[in-house]
Amino acid sequence: MNVSDELRSLEATGIYRLASSRAAFLDPVRLLDESYRRFRLVPSAYYTRSFGPSNQGGDAQGMRPVTSPDRKKRKRKRQPKPRELNAVERIAEARHQEARPLLISAHKSLLEAKDLLEFLPGMIKGDGCIQDVQTSSENNFVELGSSWRAPLYEMTICFQKPHGQDEEGSCHVHRRSTPLFNKVISVEENDEAEGEFQSRLYILPKGSCFLMTDFKHIRDLIPDNSNNGYNLIVIDPPWENGCVHQKEAYPTLPNRYLLYLPVQELADPAGALLVLWITNREKLRRFVEDELLPSWGVKDTTEFYWLKVKSDGSLIGDLDLFHHRPYECLLLGYINVNKEAEPGPKFKFLQGSQVIMSVPGAHSRKPPLQKILSEFIPGPKPPRCIELFARELGSGCTSWGNEPLHFQDSMYFSEK
Ligand code: SAM
Repeated sequence: MNVSDELRSLEATGIYRLASSRAAFLDPVRLLDESYRRFRLVPSAYYTRSFGPSNQGGDAQGMRPVTSPDRKKRKRKRQPKPRELNAVERIAEARHQEARPLLISAHKSLLEAKDLLEFLPGMIKGDGCIQDVQTSSENNFVELGSSWRAPLYEMTICFQKPHGQDEEGSCHVHRRSTPLFNKVISVEENDEAEGEFQSRLYILPKGSCFLMTDFKHIRDLIPDNSNNGYNLIVIDPPWENGCVHQKEAYPTLPNRYLLYLPVQELADPAGALLVLWITNREKLRRFVEDELLPSWGVKDTTEFYWLKVKSDGSLIGDLDLFHHRPYECLLLGYINVNKEAEPGPKFKFLQGSQVIMSVPGAHSRKPPLQKILSEFIPGPKPPRCIELFARELGSGCTSWGNEPLHFQDSMYFSEK
């Protein structure tokens, strides 16, 4: 294989920039691994959904696959007559048509990156260490946190402390117990810690911080000193959408509750970039643009797309399928940032939409964005980051939600 600089960059940093379009391919496993010293994520435990190579043939850009005449006949019989779109659906369709050229160009540039396509299947499998992820025995933090016992639950945190300089390399193990729910728990910068709870082990990245509570306690997150506000705020809400699958995966919140998220109080007064994951529903889009973002004081918004691909680079579904787009949208905007002011040397204003591509992991698990967005985040470097409705932890980030330890279970990791 002819290895390009971009592929070397993917191996080293988790990001492959596709120079011919405003797009990048990410490997979330490599990006998340940067938070760990003694552990690493097991690729087979991250890439758990079977997005095997496309067997439909046809155009890998996700346009309707080319089918044999026989298949076409059978399909035509079963398919109901397409109904006309209503007014709201027509707006959604127009939005899709606007995004389509950018998505197609991003995907085309991925298909032209032959070294990346050859690399992908191995990247998904990892070094052959296949971890059998038995999610049935996991702790259900959403349930535990809402029980009357929640204030009584404790986690025992074990962390390694190096001895003095004369005994280089050796360390003692320290243990401390702490209430698990409704309490901010921080891990020191130098090494990851291991948390024991109900016979399971959780890997806590160095320099991470989390608060596991229900929405009712969200204000406990507000920093005592506004100078400790956050420069990057990532929000992936449990939007209501009437989809049965989603109801099984996690509880949802009425959309209007999000008007009460204390976003202004979390943001650094010197400037913050806000990233909001949204669904493709037009009604939700209107609420977000007309009410939610203005109420949070978010300005200068730009839209990004997360295009989901399989291990052979083809899209996970037909690009034009109305209710099942193979992409998700995220809106990015600024709080407390004056666009007219001179930006700092390491800060660029976002300009124009971009496409991020990756092979998806578990249901609703989003790729980590901090690194790819770093040049667009105002304020100090490294930035202070917070993720709301998080299901995992990261170095230098505060994670809040009712299950931020979900993907920290040791079954997703192996020791280096
Ligand atoms: N960003 C996450 C990821 O990449 O894995 C997915 C977040 S998921 C869309 C929404 C999360 O919000 C779920 O973990 C869900 O349990 C949590 N959630 C739902 N209702 C909540 C509530 N009332 N308070 C706190 N978190 C809640």
